[in-house]
Amino acid sequence: MDKAKKVVVLPCSGIGKAYGALARETAYELAERVRPGVATLTCLPLLVINDPAARKLVTDHPVIAIDGCPKECARKSVEALGKKPAVSYQAIRFYTAHKDLKPEGVAQLNEAGQKLARIAADELAATVDRLAAEEAVAQVSKPAGSPTSSRPGVGATSTSEVCGDCGLEISDTADSKSALPAKEEL
Ligand code: SF4
Repeated sequence: MDKAKKVVVLPCSGIGKAYGALARETAYELAERVRPGVATLTCLPLLVINDPAARKLVTDHPVIAIDGCPKECARKSVEALGKKPAVSYQAIRFYTAHKDLKPEGVAQLNEAGQKLARIAADELAATVDRLAAEEAVAQVSKPAGSPTSSRPGVGATSTSEVCGDCGLEISDTADSKSALPAKEEL
C-alpha cells in the first residue's frame, strides 16, 4: 500500500536561472519538509539518459512537473515517456501569486526566493495529498496480480537506490490539481 502513496516531484535542471533554482527548491521543500515519504524526487537527467529505475518511477506514479522557464524540460521529458504529468507548473507562477517575494540568485536563492519556495510547497501539499489518495484508490481497485503499469517493458518489480551524484532517490514502483493553478487547469 505504501507504493500507492508516492507522488513524484520532478523539477527541471534550471542551471543559471533563478526560476530553475526556485523549481528545485520548491521540490526539495515538498519532499523533505511538507510531504516526506510521499513526495518523491527524481532527477531530470536520469530521464534524459533513459535510466530504467527513473523511467519506472515516473511511469508508475503520478508526477508533478515544475519547470523554470517556458521550455518546460521537465514536463516534456515526462511526455516523452508517453505519460502526461498529473499537473505541471512553471515556477514563475509561484512568483506571480506572491509578488512581494522576487526570487533572485542561481546557485542559491535569496531570502525572498527561499521563502517563496516554502510557501509554494505548502500550497502544493493539497495537490500531493489528492494525487496520493487517487493513486491509493486506483491501487485498491486493481485486480490482484495486476502490473503496476500498463506501459510495455515496465514490470512489477521494485527497485530502490539513491543517485550517487545528486543524492536523490530514484526508487520503487504504482497516473494523472491546488491552491496554485496548474497548466491544465487554466
Ligand atoms: S525548463 Fe528552462 S530552466 Fe528548466 S532546464 Fe529547461 S531550459 Fe533550463
